Amino acid sequence: MEVIETVKVSTMSELAEHECCIGLYCQACDKWEEVVPSEWLGQGLPDVDFEEIGFKCGECGTSGWKQVCPLVDGEMVAVAHH
Ligand SMILES: [Zn+2]
Repeated sequence: MEVIETVKVSTMSELAEHECCIGLYCQACDKWEEVVPSEWLGQGLPDVDFEEIGFKCGECGTSGWKQVCPLVDGEMVAVAHH
């Protein structure tokens, strides 16, 4: 039996539950930043849908793109693009 299930995670608490984090990429700086949902919530920030958050690069102010990445041993694993 094969079960393929797509789990939709969108809020910070769901991302934390599934041990995911949000990778932020600035193309201009070629730089990754990460937001760890459990740390986000630990700071008392609201349990928002990450799609609704606007992220800007701390270096150049460009709006970067967001990607949900799995956390392995607390480290973000950037998914390779083919
Ligand atoms: Zn930048």
